[in-house]
Amino acid sequence: MMTGEQYVETIRNSNLEIYMFGEKIKNSVDSPILRPSLNSVKATYDLAQIPEYEDVMTVTSHITGKKINRFSHIHQSTEDLINKVKMQRLLGQKTASCFQRCVGMDAMNAIFSTTFECDEKHGTSYHKNFLDYLRQVQEHDWVVDGAMTDPKGDRGLAPSQQADPDLYLRIVERRADGIVVRGAKAHQTGMVNSHEIVVMPTMSMKPGEEDYAVSFALPADTKGILSIVGRQSCDTRKLENSGMDVGNCEFGGMEALVIFDDVFVPNERIFLNGETDYSGMLVERFAGYHRQSYGGCKVGVGDVLIGAAALAADYNGAAKASHIKDKLIEMVHLNETLYSCGIACSSQGHRTKSGNYLIDMLLANVCKQNITRFPYEITRLAEDIAGGLMVTAPSEKDFRHEKLGPFIEKYLKGVDSVPTEHRLRILRLIENITLGAAAVGYRTESMHGAGSPQAQRVMIARQGNIESKKALAKAIAKIEK
Ligand code: SF4
Ligand code: FE
Repeated sequence: MMTGEQYVETIRNSNLEIYMFGEKIKNSVDSPILRPSLNSVKATYDLAQIPEYEDVMTVTSHITGKKINRFSHIHQSTEDLINKVKMQRLLGQKTASCFQRCVGMDAMNAIFSTTFECDEKHGTSYHKNFLDYLRQVQEHDWVVDGAMTDPKGDRGLAPSQQADPDLYLRIVERRADGIVVRGAKAHQTGMVNSHEIVVMPTMSMKPGEEDYAVSFALPADTKGILSIVGRQSCDTRKLENSGMDVGNCEFGGMEALVIFDDVFVPNERIFLNGETDYSGMLVERFAGYHRQSYGGCKVGVGDVLIGAAALAADYNGAAKASHIKDKLIEMVHLNETLYSCGIACSSQGHRTKSGNYLIDMLLANVCKQNITRFPYEITRLAEDIAGGLMVTAPSEKDFRHEKLGPFIEKYLKGVDSVPTEHRLRILRLIENITLGAAAVGYRTESMHGAGSPQAQRVMIARQGNIESKKALAKAIAKIEK
């Protein structure tokens, strides 16, 4: 396994093509805007080196028998699934942001089982391709970016009906030695901090849409792949050298629009190539795993937010008020409900034909459906407890100013024993998680990440089995037919 420092050097030495604010980024590792997101991924390496976290962060590879980072593991049991969620909660607690490495883990587990079943039916050799690839991922301890979401253009039209056929990533050329792909993947979490990118179809494809039913892996710095970094609220505060105003000084997330400008994929890196009947399985399994993931990572960030709200109450002198206590209880209740969903869908998981473990799909979708709601309520309560100062406080520069500083110190003080700076730092952290750069990961990603709410409702409808419930009611009511 790599150390965090070694990981940073591998990214420094890669040739990722990254653009931000209209300019090509020469070195993302030293970019003040991107560095916090790299630090979050680095934490996945750092924590794996700490004996206290060994059980949750590392595991024995089922293919090599070697100790590996859990992020490149293929789940072998429900215990593995549970440990995955525990690992994500831990990292959410330590980074208070999106640490990005889960998408690849979820993609690899979905591809592992889907390629096995596709090969069984079609006589293809995608599972072998994937096993060879997995071995490399584990050996090199790579960060793998999982890429699913296509831009999709007119949502009312199928991929092949779009005015521009590239709005869904597709195969534009089939050659003896591989394929050439063109298209884009949107909202790509962690792309600029990844060694590899694994692409999957964005939805279930139909016969006639073979060019869109494609899955493959490439080095993230392959020629023709470029990333345009997404803006985040308050992102340029990171340029101010002001730890205080950013709220979370060290960690962050990042997303990018990733373009595939006619990129060649060799045969051995292809995991699906035209088998439309397996595209839906791949999408559903990946989405299921990632919906489980949110029952860990968002809960960990929620822990930090609840802690920050409780500190804000302490610093305001409001901690003893019964309504504050009750709001904190409510926040904990909501957060632990999310965790319960993450643990439940894991513990009720089952073995797939390929041998790895899949979560309970209904419970994973219920987990994510709750995630589209509860973090908003937790956020609302945190803002309620924090008070308006979290959005009206002056800047750190004013705080450090010779004339203004003493005024701020005096008039923005809460309880006398707490320095004003501590109060301001906690309020900035709440701002960061609820409205600032980390709000991408905690708020809006809770809504749309791993699929928007309606996507889960479709799955809940499919898995909910209303007919069996009707039969139960009839049996109790003594209705025979
Ligand atoms: Fe991991 Fe959560 Fe970020 Fe997804 S949103 S990559 S599950 S931390
Ligand atoms: Fe996500």
